[in-house]
Amino acid sequence: MPEYHPPLGNRSILRLDFNENTLGCSPAVIRAIQSLTAEELTRYPERGPVEELAAHHLGLKPEQVILTNGVDEAIHILCQAFLDAGDELLLPVPTYTMYEIYASSTDAQVVRVQADADFAFPFERLLAAITPRTKIIAIANPNSPTGSVCTREQILQIVQVAPQAVVLVDEAYFHFHGETVMDLAGKIPNLIVARTFSKAYGLAGLRIGLLAGPESLLRWTRRVLSPYSVNSVALAALTAALKDHSYLDWYVAEIKGARARFLDDLTRIGLHFWPTEANFVLVRIGARHKEFCAAMRGRGILVRDRSADPGCDGLVRVTIGSRGQMEQAAAAISEFLRSGGQSA
Ligand code: PMP
Repeated sequence: MPEYHPPLGNRSILRLDFNENTLGCSPAVIRAIQSLTAEELTRYPERGPVEELAAHHLGLKPEQVILTNGVDEAIHILCQAFLDAGDELLLPVPTYTMYEIYASSTDAQVVRVQADADFAFPFERLLAAITPRTKIIAIANPNSPTGSVCTREQILQIVQVAPQAVVLVDEAYFHFHGETVMDLAGKIPNLIVARTFSKAYGLAGLRIGLLAGPESLLRWTRRVLSPYSVNSVALAALTAALKDHSYLDWYVAEIKGARARFLDDLTRIGLHFWPTEANFVLVRIGARHKEFCAAMRGRGILVRDRSADPGCDGLVRVTIGSRGQMEQAAAAISEFLRSGGQSA
């Protein structure tokens, strides 16, 4: 298995490196956590009632939803449940690293379909790469690190062409895009939709996400899931978060506004970037990408070098925060370029 060491450490500056919420979760979540009692913490967590609430929130039945310790755990249990020796996990690349990491803990093969230089979803090539051995197709929509999307029609075609495979549509960044196939969860026999509460909801530290799909698939996944992997604090937080629509709407509107302005700023600065429907943008920095990331850190801003991703040499991913934070980021980028690219 390849090792995965996310570049953590020393992150108490402006964090535009992990696509987190950069302003903080709903105050209702903090109140819910503060009102937890010692007695409640003595009990093992019961995910059932909150699963019911989450299902209701998504217009699904409770048996069509599993809460997980972040979408990372969801990916892990899908790989454990559905991948065996001789099977294939099919991935458009570049994409989110953990699909491959968790698949590599099984005996299955990873089959990668490289996107073109425009990073558009490689639909035709993905269809052509489907074989009878394809058991999971993982599609982040919007995709990370590119911000590109695949359409509902494309997803509908993929689930049809690969009835032998679980098609995972990972909607981690759904709120910043607005298009979803969640309404199809439970209706299409091989479709599973994932959502995280780490991004727009601002709960990355609590580790909570979910899988939605037909009960016939989810019951296999439940078998490999620890019954207590979502803790009581996360369950209380999610209960409050799901009720606070206005916080979520406010945060998403702020980020979309900031995104539009920041992309204008990048155009003005003269840097190439790829169209994005997520809370981040992939920017071409070129040969000085390492120096750029170090210089940004020196100016109090963390960004993420994606050069090691397939087809991403010289590219850096910048998370979109608030308007104020993105003004700061745009100023730091301009300063770096004006100074001839010397580290601060
Ligand atoms: N899917 C994608 C596409 C992501 O970018 C991320 C976050 N890095 C995750 C899943 C993981 O989400 P979680 O924090 O819920 O494990």
